[in-house]
Amino acid sequence: MAEKYLRILVDSFHGYWNYLQNELLYPSFHNYFYWLLALSLIVWFLEIVFPWRTEQSIVRKDFWLDGFYMLFNFFIFSLIGFYAISNVATQAFNDFLLLFGIENIVVTNIQRWPVWSQYILMFFVADFIQWNIHRLLHKSPRLWEFHKVHHSVEEMGFAAHFRFHWMESVIYKTIQYIPLAMIGFGLKDFFIIHIVAIAIGHLNHSNIQITYGPLKYIFNNPVMHIWHHSKELVDKTHGVNFGLSLSIWDYIFKTAYIPKSGRDIKLGFEKVERYPQNFFSQVIQPFKKGI
Ligand SMILES: [Zn+2]
Ligand SMILES: [Zn+2]
Repeated sequence: MAEKYLRILVDSFHGYWNYLQNELLYPSFHNYFYWLLALSLIVWFLEIVFPWRTEQSIVRKDFWLDGFYMLFNFFIFSLIGFYAISNVATQAFNDFLLLFGIENIVVTNIQRWPVWSQYILMFFVADFIQWNIHRLLHKSPRLWEFHKVHHSVEEMGFAAHFRFHWMESVIYKTIQYIPLAMIGFGLKDFFIIHIVAIAIGHLNHSNIQITYGPLKYIFNNPVMHIWHHSKELVDKTHGVNFGLSLSIWDYIFKTAYIPKSGRDIKLGFEKVERYPQNFFSQVIQPFKKGI
């Protein structure tokens, strides 16, 4: 039994390493690395041409730190082990279910639906689960210590999207795995949904004043998300506007809040200026709090 898990672990490391090499060597339309690079350059270009905070520099505070977070959270963390460990965990979970004679936990026949409707359902369901997890990250004092890394951004720009503690990937993926698996969605499906989510997430954090007109009640946007990062609101209310790709949940559940233009509001949390400033000290910071 242990050998089986070890083999999955080793195969996954190899598999991911080969995958990463292929990603870098062979650009294609089904390639995360070049999509991430292209979307980053496009949104950065838009920030330069149409800046909301005109006095903010093109290479803002922590630009390179956030660029490193982007590479780390998207590729290196997976390379180091997340991909391998999650494969083992998935196998262990399925084996555990087999003990009770459960071969799969799929409760619907979603695969028979037209593909476009599967995509839309997946996008909405996953986003709603993530909205709840995001609220949990704010409510739970322990989880907040991890989420503080994301809220330590003081000058907002597209790359801040990926400034988050690797533990967030573990929390999000673990909590959403079971409900998504129950409706027949696996971990690796839906490339296009990931790309759309990255594009919206980049824009949410960008220095651009864009709201998509009436679609602002469905899609999150930078004018709304900046208030999520408001120093004052984070400290006083545990936050507002928890949406990731979609804003609709905040409107439905009354956590949407845009009192005025958030162009120049202070970002962060109490004593953010004393928060560690570099990658390694930020990553170990939550563990210092005795978790
Ligand atoms: Zn947050
Ligand atoms: Zn954010």
